[in-house]
Amino acid sequence: MIRIVTLNEFPPEVVEHVARRLHAAYGMGAEIEGEADLPRSALDDSQESYDAPKLVANIDDDTQLFADDKIIYLTSEPLTAPAGPMGHGPVDGFAQYGGGKALATSHGLGQKGQPSIEAGLAKRAAHHIGHLWDLHHCFDVRCAMHPGWSPGFAQYPEVVLCLFCREKSERKIKLGQG
Ligand SMILES: [Zn+2]
Ligand SMILES: [Zn+2]
Repeated sequence: MIRIVTLNEFPPEVVEHVARRLHAAYGMGAEIEGEADLPRSALDDSQESYDAPKLVANIDDDTQLFADDKIIYLTSEPLTAPAGPMGHGPVDGFAQYGGGKALATSHGLGQKGQPSIEAGLAKRAAHHIGHLWDLHHCFDVRCAMHPGWSPGFAQYPEVVLCLFCREKSERKIKLGQG
């Protein structure tokens, strides 16, 4: 089961759209679980954006995770990640690779050259949930596992997994349920 928890207010139709797309992409139930508070302790040095890994680690919610459950947090806040080899750029989400919790933001969506909030958020959520099943970045520009910072993201706003990523996720999901 994929459990969706919102950290900011979203129109219900946006969250429902995300749930439908996640269900279609991974063939498993996607449930809208409820809301949780943004952990202020995860604000980064600028105090204007959230440190994405810290946010996921510090979140305080009472969602019960069962063995094969995955949780996706949705926010509209700008996110950052600790500086890496690629610098300190904006990030569209975060996932505990191979773990249980992921995060996606709608920040920047709906602006010129970007997909709508509902389409873009669904795709970002599908991408970061994919990392929870150990899916890596994919070269197929239409695939949801293609990096969100590449032009393919806006060019193909539909949530689609390429055959390779779909099969890999199906294997992982089956293992998790077995
Ligand atoms: Zn990624
Ligand atoms: Zn792929």
